[in-house]
Amino acid sequence: MSQCCGKPPVEPKPTDPCKPPEPAVCGGSPAAAGAAECPLTYFRRMIPNCLAYAKAARQQGRPIVGIMCEYAPRELIMAAGGVPVCLCGGANETIPAAEEILPSTLCPLIKSTFGYHVLKSNPFLEMADLVVAETTCDGKKKMFELMAESRPTYTLELPQKENDADARAHWAAEIRKFKRELEIRFGRPITHEALRKAIAVMNRERRLRRELAALMKASPPPLTGRELLDFKSSISGIPEDYEQYEKALRMLREKRPCPSLASRVRVLLTGVPLVHGAERVLDIIEGHGGLVVCQENCTGLKPILEDVELNGGDPLDALAEKYYRIPCSVHTANERRMESLRNLAREYQAQCVLELIWQACLTYDIESHRVKRLAEQELGLPYLRIETDYSPSDSARIAVRVEALCETVRQR
Ligand code: SF4
Ligand code: SF4
Repeated sequence: MSQCCGKPPVEPKPTDPCKPPEPAVCGGSPAAAGAAECPLTYFRRMIPNCLAYAKAARQQGRPIVGIMCEYAPRELIMAAGGVPVCLCGGANETIPAAEEILPSTLCPLIKSTFGYHVLKSNPFLEMADLVVAETTCDGKKKMFELMAESRPTYTLELPQKENDADARAHWAAEIRKFKRELEIRFGRPITHEALRKAIAVMNRERRLRRELAALMKASPPPLTGRELLDFKSSISGIPEDYEQYEKALRMLREKRPCPSLASRVRVLLTGVPLVHGAERVLDIIEGHGGLVVCQENCTGLKPILEDVELNGGDPLDALAEKYYRIPCSVHTANERRMESLRNLAREYQAQCVLELIWQACLTYDIESHRVKRLAEQELGLPYLRIETDYSPSDSARIAVRVEALCETVRQR
């Protein structure tokens, strides 16, 4: 469900009034960048870049493996010679096709992804040699059953209980079963050496993205939340992406922050992920007085806060440990998310908490009660819950609520 794909790239709306239409990130010194192209311009071509990479990989005989959840261990897919690609749909346009089959009351992320499947319009899904069907939530689990009628899928059972030895052991067994499935399906043993190499690659990717996110701790920061969100890729492990992340870090560390960002209200955004094409709410927040300084969700820090331990021990077990600890609402009781929110609110100097819930996402919706309590009673921060889908029909209403939230913060 994280940095997802399928929708042709659109020209993002500029969110930094200092430098439209050029990305604010690109306003730094070209000398600092060390090359002509701005990294943000590169990442705004993310879908074509990934498509070219996937096609070339396929020609070299590498399998394409689709995933839809941050629990799917990309390292195993890479160690099997495969290319892990996120399939989460962020387009409103594919939803009507999905609603011919699925209930209209389902979460838009599931419907959009399934719409791409029905329409055969996501090139990555059409290329996929395997789709990992994570048992994230009931809607996704049952959607994958329908997808499995015409595509090769493998069900990965996610852990449910937090801090539970049996649940942890069951998850480790699931990881081992997934490894065997990949080995048999793609005819290549996954050695510890290959796995350690893939872990090192993914640890590097997580570190680079964490360092970019950490730039938002500054007041004012050198980029907007929307620009940070654009630094992502549907495919992990692309060497050119890492060069661009490093170049962006060099540029942004030297860039003078845009003064207008200093007057914006610092928002900690939590809840569901804003997959590629479904960034509307973030645009509204930043267009109406807010600045998303921290995304706790799966398109932000949640999956990259921790690395896989590389030193010693069984790398498979190290993988199981890292992924078991993701603080997603599919976990019960998910205390780790509350802990993470506490820490992030402090580190990023958040002035309010805004929670995004996709329509019919029961786990995040019910957990939002605890997040509200944490924000208001423990952290002393105003809290706003926004439940929506991919349709722009409620944009004006959301904008009014965001403005009211910002006003509340300013009056404090
Ligand atoms: S929010 Fe939960 S279910 Fe969604 S991608 Fe993240 S870990 Fe997976
Ligand atoms: S947003 Fe919620 S309902 Fe939608 S796929 Fe993710 S966990 Fe399931």
